[in-house]
Amino acid sequence: MSNSFFDNLGEFLTPYKRKYAVAVAISIISVVTELSAYALTGKLAGHIFGGGGLYDAMAPVAAIAGCKVATALLMNLSTQISHHAAYESLRDIRKAVVAKMMNAPLGYFEKNGSGRLKTLIVDRIEGIELTLAHLLPEMTANILIPGALVCIMLAVDWRLALCILGWILLGLAAFCGMLIGYDKKYSGQISAYKAMNQAIVEYVGGIEVIKTFNQTDKCAKKYESAVGYHADYSYKWSKDTQIFSSLCGAISPYSIFPLLTVGLVLWGGGNLGTSELFFFMIAALGIFRPIVKAIGYFDQLAKMKTTSNEIREVLDCAMLKRAADGRIEPKTEGCAVEFSHVSFSYDDSAKTAVNDITLKVPHGTTLALTGPSGSGKSTIAKLLAGYFDVTAGEIKVYGKPFYEYTQDELNRLIAYVDQDVYLFDTTILENIRIGRPDASDSDVFDAAKKAGCDDFIRSLPDGYNTNVGSAGGRLSGGERQRIAIARAIMKDAPILILDEATASSDPENETLIQAALSRAAEGKTLIIVAHRLRTITSADQIAYIKNGKVEMIGSHEQLLLGCRDYADMWRIGSLNQEENNQCFQPS
Ligand code: ADP
Repeated sequence: MSNSFFDNLGEFLTPYKRKYAVAVAISIISVVTELSAYALTGKLAGHIFGGGGLYDAMAPVAAIAGCKVATALLMNLSTQISHHAAYESLRDIRKAVVAKMMNAPLGYFEKNGSGRLKTLIVDRIEGIELTLAHLLPEMTANILIPGALVCIMLAVDWRLALCILGWILLGLAAFCGMLIGYDKKYSGQISAYKAMNQAIVEYVGGIEVIKTFNQTDKCAKKYESAVGYHADYSYKWSKDTQIFSSLCGAISPYSIFPLLTVGLVLWGGGNLGTSELFFFMIAALGIFRPIVKAIGYFDQLAKMKTTSNEIREVLDCAMLKRAADGRIEPKTEGCAVEFSHVSFSYDDSAKTAVNDITLKVPHGTTLALTGPSGSGKSTIAKLLAGYFDVTAGEIKVYGKPFYEYTQDELNRLIAYVDQDVYLFDTTILENIRIGRPDASDSDVFDAAKKAGCDDFIRSLPDGYNTNVGSAGGRLSGGERQRIAIARAIMKDAPILILDEATASSDPENETLIQAALSRAAEGKTLIIVAHRLRTITSADQIAYIKNGKVEMIGSHEQLLLGCRDYADMWRIGSLNQEENNQCFQPS
């Protein structure tokens, strides 16, 4: 459902309501000074054309100038105060969004993508600042000025007032034509914009693959079609509204003509004073500017509404079911992990990714998950790593259900090394130390030795002080994964989950990672998602996963005998290995 900006984010304006109120109050005073300038100008004109002396005109001239200067100063002060309040509100919104993200399930980030969240927090939120700061004081002033002017005009001469009012209503009717289907058209425009953005990000992000696989034409077409659609949509919208905006633009500034026609007749017949006529002429020229400005805010309000809906969506994202207070002192013994009839589906998919899984992993043992690609292995690992809540069933850690732990307690118990290892743009030393921020340098070296990466790190020109580059881009996939294992060792959690990276599993790395894992897993519970069987034959338990279900669980030997799919996978893997060995035999 789409709510207004104030419904969505009003709570962030409330703490600063005094500032917003002062800004609005000052802007109302500025309306009074502005209106006084109109009245004084009318009087001055009446005075001059009525044959008044030049000397007597000096005081009203000074007063008009004073009113104009006061209006400008007051508006400036009001906007300054509201800018201050707006920045405070935006700071609170950003803090709330980031705080929410800190506690959001990791799966939320997988679904939403870091680019979209960054754009929302940095650019989109910044985009509402200007409107928020100007909206309340300026919109108030720009609605009050014409409103008050119309009231004064009615009091001075109702016939001329109705003449101008009729003209204003004509202009507003033309403007309303532009608003027909506005919400629908605006959301269509946003969708076209997002599609174009997505196409650009995909095109730029995948440029290496696109070039390598000669897909430039195909991908450029997709990109061009998204850009073209956005341009066509924008053009059609502006074409549809052009007639109304031209009418509005044509009608607005010319209220002086009907006014002069009626006004001069009345003045000539002695039914209207000179001052009054001049007051109406000046008011007729000045009344449309604030109306047009106030109208412009409707467009800004629609944009603010869209952004506020996106922010609300983040603020309302479902949290994992976890305890609020830490109470559990888990004994790291017995059954480390237990899945009881666990099922899970991704939001937008009717397919069950994990289907009625039941398994137990005693403390200090290794469970390997294997099976065809897409069978649900990584999803099982992610459920245990706290990416998502299960759809059905229960996961227990050391005998207690997940929801009895706080997220912090679970984070201390479980370390997860993803396929997609993320390294920060800092030194290797600091990247490993993230596992335990108070660790000494020598603790970091020990962890790196255990993870089998000490040698390669020391061979780098700056050793542990080598900067890994943006997202660890200066290291190979296997090196990154071993650094991530060192980081997990540093954390010293009793349960270690590793989703083996397929991309980096060349035979040499596989052996190194295997050895690193054996050392890292000493005395710990290890759950490993294995894409190659050679690495897991010695696991205490191997679960063969197919279509989200456990087809069989047991030792390597038991599976070779009892699980045909596993035996086939092993045979194919062995054949490939033999072929590889033959290919790489030195002549
Ligand atoms: P595996 O690790 O065995 O290759 P996954 O656990 O990654 O398999 O995927 C299991 C199923 O869930 C697949 O059908 C996959 O397409 C689907 N899936 C995986 N990740 C997502 C996601 N983020 N959103 C929707 N479906 C997903």
